[in-house]
Amino acid sequence: MRMYDLIMKKRNGEMLSAEEIKWMIDSYTAGEIPDYQMSAMTMAIYFQGMDPRETADLTLAMAHSGDMLDLSDIPGIKVDKHSTGGVGDKTSLALIPMVAACGLKVAKMSGRGLGHTGGTIDKLESFPGFSTGITMDAFKENVKSKGLSIMGQTLNLAPADKKLYALRDVTATVDNMSLIASSIMSKKLAAGADAIVLDVKTGSGAFMKKEEDALALAKEMVLLGSHAGRKTLAVISDMDQPLGLAVGNILEVKEAIDTLKGNGPKDFVELCLTLGSLMLMVGGIAKDAAEGRQKCEEVIANGKALEKLKDLVSAQGGDPSYVEDPSRFPLPPVVRDITAPMNGYITHIECDEIGMCCLLLGGGRVTKESDIDLRVGLILNKKRGDKVEQGDILATVYAADEETFEQAKKRFLAAYTFGDTKPMDVPFIKQIIEE
Ligand code: URA
Repeated sequence: MRMYDLIMKKRNGEMLSAEEIKWMIDSYTAGEIPDYQMSAMTMAIYFQGMDPRETADLTLAMAHSGDMLDLSDIPGIKVDKHSTGGVGDKTSLALIPMVAACGLKVAKMSGRGLGHTGGTIDKLESFPGFSTGITMDAFKENVKSKGLSIMGQTLNLAPADKKLYALRDVTATVDNMSLIASSIMSKKLAAGADAIVLDVKTGSGAFMKKEEDALALAKEMVLLGSHAGRKTLAVISDMDQPLGLAVGNILEVKEAIDTLKGNGPKDFVELCLTLGSLMLMVGGIAKDAAEGRQKCEEVIANGKALEKLKDLVSAQGGDPSYVEDPSRFPLPPVVRDITAPMNGYITHIECDEIGMCCLLLGGGRVTKESDIDLRVGLILNKKRGDKVEQGDILATVYAADEETFEQAKKRFLAAYTFGDTKPMDVPFIKQIIEE
């Protein structure tokens, strides 16, 4: 087979066979297909799409591109969670310790930032010493003894996705349904959990901007999981404005810590409780979602969820004293406010542009090799529906220098729309999808 022929086939809108997809993924993983040809292929897929059969073949080829983790020696139902990605999405940092504190065993594989969205692995590396590159034995041992572990794709799990993810991040080929579904589900299948809860975002900060596209993605992933014998559920949640108030690695870690201390922003708490209750339900810890929610609320109120975050950090080599005292995290030199240019209601926030502000500040990658500045980002002070007067603080920006602050400020102000009437409230949790 020749990659050139496969690119041309897909470019012309034809379907790829299971053999062709498997050959392409195996050869790319082995380094026999160069990034420039794979970039052309992902762009062809972006424009021509893949049908459900091709997407399932792509998912399985990627899942089997490395080791398939066997967690059967860890007692109990192991539940994994994954988000399709958003702005200010620090959910795993609070959710995983919370459900682990309720007795659920969580073995989670997470990713780095992608496009305008952040990633859990980058955020966890805000804790000095924290390693997401642990061995398989250490990963399993932490799940057994502490109840939770989060690792990056450093082990040989879905290595094809690891390479493709980094490539898509810098070639504007993220927001395609088949590429997202196969990326997420290949990792989840390889990571070995019995049940999977997906957080599918929709809105201007999501890869799926329209709710119907998010719904189609959710259904596709639920089917992929169920056909592979894993109980899979999906929640469709709002990403038409950043989640919570913090956007940026260290800032989001601090917000997750505040949330586990009982002081989280309303939308973020709601998302953690919704996903957490479902995880406890499919994991057999709660008889239904209502009981799951009650258990999650209890471990936040009694401090057990916060203790679990400390366990997670120390078990993976990080310094847990930062959880006790988040003021120890470093701040960048420039901390400045952005104020409202006029009176009115905030009627719309172009959410992906807020993610781009963070990227511009140095909080995300521009090329595969870019280093990121964990200190930078924004704390929002006003969100959609809030009434403001000219001069009110809209957000505080954490920047490495004046130049990037000015660039981020310009982009931020262009992302906010003001009007005379309060916009209608939209439901934050839109749907829950099961097979
Ligand atoms: N998260 C992933 O793991 N992959 C994607 O393609 C998008 C979000």
